[in-house]
Amino acid sequence: MKKDDCIFCRIANGEIPSDTLYEDDFARVILDLNPASKGHALILPKEHYADLFELPEEEAARVLSTAKKVAPAMMKALGAAGMNLVQNNGAAAGQTVKHFHLHLIPRYEGGPRMCSWEEGKSDPAEQKRIAEAVKAEL
Ligand code: 5GP
Ligand code: ZN
Repeated sequence: MKKDDCIFCRIANGEIPSDTLYEDDFARVILDLNPASKGHALILPKEHYADLFELPEEEAARVLSTAKKVAPAMMKALGAAGMNLVQNNGAAAGQTVKHFHLHLIPRYEGGPRMCSWEEGKSDPAEQKRIAEAVKAEL
């Protein structure tokens, strides 16, 4: 289902113009308005799903197929040396638009540090407790 008040529904379905790299019946791939690097793009399914957890399995598979098709073309066209795939779920994780999207962020030799974090220290007992707690929810 599309949502009339969702900006990514409107962009994905062509109601609002965008710089489109690729489109098919399932999704549109557009350039991000505020790119983290040259060519930063977003895969937007045409149907509205708020996040990964609402996205049906089959659509989730199609998102990755789309990434596998478009990302190599982006790297070739842009001369990128790598590609980060980033996907935020929930405001605490940095999600600002509540319509599922996958970021394709081209990376360049000698480019700035991004998509990385300070390494923490793990505690073996705590790791075991975490593993047990999660497994109990599955
Ligand atoms: P999030 O933080 O939700 O994972 O990512 C949302 C992304 O959408 C951001 O990178 C932001 O720059 C991009 N964005 C937000 N509104 C628009 C828009 O109207 N057009 C385009 N092309 N990108 C947008
Ligand atoms: Zn939407």
